[in-house]
Amino acid sequence: MIPVKGYAAPKANILLEPFQFERREVGPHDVQIEILFCGVCHSDIHQVRDEWGGSIFPMVPGHEIVGKITKVGDHVTKFKVGDSAGVGCFVDSCRQCPSCLAGLEQYCDVGMIGTYNALDKEGKPTYGGYSNQIVVDEKYTLHISDKLPLSGVAPLLCAGITTYSPIMEWGMGKGHKVGVVGLGGLGHMAVKLAASKGAEVTVLSTSASKKADAERLGAKNFVVTKDAAQMAAAAGSLDFIINTISAQHEYNDYLQLLKLDGTMVLVGVPPEAPKVAAFNLIMKRRRLAGSLIGGIKETQEMLDYCAEHGIVSDVEVINIDYINEAYERMLKGDVRYRFVIDLASL
Ligand code: NAP
Ligand code: ZN
Ligand code: ZN
Repeated sequence: MIPVKGYAAPKANILLEPFQFERREVGPHDVQIEILFCGVCHSDIHQVRDEWGGSIFPMVPGHEIVGKITKVGDHVTKFKVGDSAGVGCFVDSCRQCPSCLAGLEQYCDVGMIGTYNALDKEGKPTYGGYSNQIVVDEKYTLHISDKLPLSGVAPLLCAGITTYSPIMEWGMGKGHKVGVVGLGGLGHMAVKLAASKGAEVTVLSTSASKKADAERLGAKNFVVTKDAAQMAAAAGSLDFIINTISAQHEYNDYLQLLKLDGTMVLVGVPPEAPKVAAFNLIMKRRRLAGSLIGGIKETQEMLDYCAEHGIVSDVEVINIDYINEAYERMLKGDVRYRFVIDLASL
């Protein structure tokens, strides 16, 4: 077994603390990655606080992982020692169901195996990227270009793909008005990616202070959602909304902003189920949809697209012992726009 250092939450709602554990030896199809950076996703907070139920403790969160390959198994063909590599939200899946065969492993019929807070095929808990080493099957490992700073690439593994996938699925781009609700980790990537595809982006935010940033990131318009007059002026104006809000809020307030046939795609996962007024959908034939991260194939496509277009996340690099404070700041919307842990600080 491979000894690993990390940070874990011992139980729900208890601060994260240093934690030592072991990973499996490198199998024939595995790569071992020395983790250099790991992004901090709001899903880490939801799961550490057991807000979605079923959390497994102790929990080593982290699914925005980049690092260097230090060892490869005998049958590995895609990677060699020294390559930069990434790991996203899942490390395995059934590999046989229609979704897996279609490269949509995130929708695996049996259930994808999460990078953390899941059980692997042997029934052992998986541990994520708030740690210095990980062992993953090469099939679930991504190639990372050395053109871009690795700290800014790490958040692409979740925040990047989670927003890229609906942009591609719904064909958001030139000629479309796309609203991005919530300017945090996912939201700021949605702005960059939708703008890069030619869409006219409107950021809808509770934080008036983020206006200048929104424009710098590529948005044309900015709506302060607490301002009723600004919300009324935006009614019926958007083709799509990517909703990234992590906390309880009114879907109805945002559905009204869609045009005829407009679609709001939920990516944010508030712990409680909100209400939707049927008339808000019926009167303009609007659609409410959802989207979960992205498959390995599409994640690689997104990473290559970002390398080609020079797109990275705006990050605040932190030491791992700052993680509990970082969570508190994220809960206040105080992050510009992704915390990324430098694992050298472990
Ligand atoms: P984040 O960085 O904390 O950003 C969330 C943003 O939502 C905040 O910056 C804030 O933006 C806004 N917000 C927060 N509380 C709000 C409230 N009460 N009312 C209105 N707006 C509020 O979080 P993240 O990492 O981007 O994650 C966002 C959500 O996506 C989380 O629920 C996460 O679990 C989920 N997620 C889903 C997937 C998927 O596959 N579907 C993947 C990753 C994450 P403003 O300051 O601009 O208002
Ligand atoms: Zn995530
Ligand atoms: Zn499957």
